[in-house]
Amino acid sequence: MDEFGLIATYFTRPARHAAVRLGVGDDAAVLAASGQEHVLTTDTLVAGVHFPDAAPGFDVGYKALAVNASDLAAMGARPLGFLLSLALPAIDETWLGGFRDGLFRLADELAMDLIGGDTVHGALTITITAIGEVPPGEALTRAGARAGDRIYVSGLLGEAALGFLMRAGRVTLPEEFAPQVLARLDRPRPRIAEGQALRGIASAAIDVSDGLVADLGHLTHASGVGAALDLRRLPLSDAYDAAFTTVGYDAALTFGDDYELVFTVPPERLTALHGVAAKVPGGFHYIGDIVAEPGLVFRGGPAGYAPATGGYAHFRS
Ligand SMILES: [Mg+2]
Repeated sequence: MDEFGLIATYFTRPARHAAVRLGVGDDAAVLAASGQEHVLTTDTLVAGVHFPDAAPGFDVGYKALAVNASDLAAMGARPLGFLLSLALPAIDETWLGGFRDGLFRLADELAMDLIGGDTVHGALTITITAIGEVPPGEALTRAGARAGDRIYVSGLLGEAALGFLMRAGRVTLPEEFAPQVLARLDRPRPRIAEGQALRGIASAAIDVSDGLVADLGHLTHASGVGAALDLRRLPLSDAYDAAFTTVGYDAALTFGDDYELVFTVPPERLTALHGVAAKVPGGFHYIGDIVAEPGLVFRGGPAGYAPATGGYAHFRS
């Protein structure tokens, strides 16, 4: 099978969005202008760096799209489609079929069309460029947080960390928790509906890819403010509680890969937020406040608590 056969066999199917005037199979894709603003983001996953060489194709395909879609969620965008650039060391049809199934599983859930890309011979590397849209001027950014805003997170923190540490043999969890933490690591669910619902409510937003401390740091830096986090308010699962003596707060604060949204809300929009939160399974979690003084302070934990330098980043696959 050559490059063109591979694309025809695995990656060609009809587009669902009318805006896709031309998709896979020509020199470039054509998207109709819609009166909306386009939101574009790209991420690359390298085997042996971002995922283990032996990872199942399904999980790699699912997660490659998920991490990109999560950036669309953080912008409050509605997903439209994506470009896929795939470097493969060889054509392994079992792996490729799994990859395609995982990729399209999430693409179907999020109503995203694959509209083009490239396939080359090389070390296993996946680059996806995702495209979404927002009403003009309504994209959520990192830059709008002000002192007095509340900080929220859209769901549990540290679950992906537990999945990674459990698989690496660094934490032991009761068996019943394994499926939940591995699913969060391998098949994160981008918070697409939540991101769109937060347009006009959140003053700033970001997704948790590098860890709450790092990503909230990007948000406060861009906004020119600081943050006070209340450790007692961090949304941690029963699985996390079971591992707490080993991982402390650090796994929830510094590992990342959770793909939850962290966002800020001005006091006058809290009523609107509560209306939205009522429709979100599990709701949103108030975890701290934006303050004028730059930097990050921790409340409610052991005296003088701060995450270990570098945290769990060196465990990341
Ligand atoms: Mg991001």
